[in-house]
Amino acid sequence: MEQRSGLVGYWRRSLQFRTVAITVLVTVAVVGVSGGVLVQRVVDELESARVRSAMAEAAAGRSIARAAAQGSSADATSEEVVTGLVEELSLRAGKPPAFEVVLAPEPGSGNPAASTNLIGPEAIPPELAGEVAATGSQLWLYAPIEYSDGRVQDGIIVGAPVTIRGIGRYQLYHMFSLESVQRTAGIVTSAIVAVGVVLVLALGLLAYFATRRLVRPVQRVAQAADALAAGELDSRLTVRGEDDLAKLASAFNTMAQSLADKIEALEVLSDTQRRFVSDVSHELRTPLTTIRMASDVATERIDPSAADAQRASALLSREIDRFDRLLSDLLEVSRFDAGAAVLETEETDLGILLEEVVGQIGPVAAEKQTPLEVVQPERPCLVDCDPRRVKRVVRNLLVNALEYGGGRTVTLMLECRGADARISVRDRGVGISVDAQERVFERFWRADPSRARTLGGTGLGLAISREDARLHGGDLTLESADPGCSFTLSLPVRD
Ligand code: ADP
Repeated sequence: MEQRSGLVGYWRRSLQFRTVAITVLVTVAVVGVSGGVLVQRVVDELESARVRSAMAEAAAGRSIARAAAQGSSADATSEEVVTGLVEELSLRAGKPPAFEVVLAPEPGSGNPAASTNLIGPEAIPPELAGEVAATGSQLWLYAPIEYSDGRVQDGIIVGAPVTIRGIGRYQLYHMFSLESVQRTAGIVTSAIVAVGVVLVLALGLLAYFATRRLVRPVQRVAQAADALAAGELDSRLTVRGEDDLAKLASAFNTMAQSLADKIEALEVLSDTQRRFVSDVSHELRTPLTTIRMASDVATERIDPSAADAQRASALLSREIDRFDRLLSDLLEVSRFDAGAAVLETEETDLGILLEEVVGQIGPVAAEKQTPLEVVQPERPCLVDCDPRRVKRVVRNLLVNALEYGGGRTVTLMLECRGADARISVRDRGVGISVDAQERVFERFWRADPSRARTLGGTGLGLAISREDARLHGGDLTLESADPGCSFTLSLPVRD
């Protein structure tokens, strides 16, 4: 399977990473949403409390302003009256002042304005002034308050019309800063963020340790299963406790044990079968030799004029040869199965080896009236191999090509380049279907069992040839050609 790198790959491979990441993400989402809602509610509550108290304060201020002129001395100027009034109102603001006051005369009246130190009439939002003038009632709005020292703060501005007796109509403004509300909101927000961070860390760690306790044993099972698959049949897990993970470990151990038992039983069985084949082949050798001797004696004594007896004797001798080859092939196969086949390697010129084989096969080709074409490189092709086995493979391939080649030219080609030498045998006969291409290397497999073999194959030829090729570190492969097919024996070349 394709392995992705980076976070995506880690996400796909690590159950632990996924669990911790999901826990952290969900916690962040929950803390974020609920913290946001909480902060919003606190701010809303604080602001509406501030609005209520601002309205009450402004109403009180308005009553004081209405009564103001009564308390001042008769010879006081309008400016002294309004300044005195603003001072009186600002005393109610406390220290530091909870609000600022502006007393603005009706435009065009020529009356004096007055305000607390930090604020001037220009701080009044014109839209509020217009509304207050139009409705004649106490109104408020959220607006930035611009102080004379340049500071600007969000605030609540409450305006109301007021008539100061003996002077004229005014608008009285109270300006409340929302700074303290914002500070409180900030404190609440940082507290919630701090709690959220702690919560996320705590839940992340909890998820990490909890999944580690679960994932570790699962990883151990996976490692043990890998080891088992790689052939370590004694791979087992330690069973701790009685929980589900312990059950998993003990189920794995039971499975591994029964697998090991089965494999051992199969090994014993296949060992017995292999020995049986080998023993039977050996045991049949002696009677076969006796039969051959008896057949030779009988053949000598046959009357040359008795044609039937001559034919029967020839048939007997051919079948004895085939039986002999079959026993040899069976013994060879059981040597491969036992891992007892050994190479007797020597430096070999493959060109010369092929000429020898062609020399032996020549009469068969002639008998089959099949032209045999040999293609070789000019330079000698030297390979470290077991010449007996390589000859056997090539002979086998050539006999098959003559058997199934339909009398058309068979080409034997040697190529010697790069890391391996390739000997291919190509015929132009019936060919082999795609489905059958791997099966031809199976023991006793035949494409058409009803077809009589004229050259007396044993059904083990290609199976043994492939084993021979692989014993050399090479291979024997088959490709379809049109018509016919091509077998290629590749052998590694000495450096
Ligand atoms: P045998 O030839 O003794 O039957 P082999 O192992 O050599 O045994 O071949 C197995 C089968 O593969 C043959 O029976 C035949 O059906 C098929 N086969 C082998 N070589 C060829 C070939 N050159 N063309 C077509 N079929 C082939």
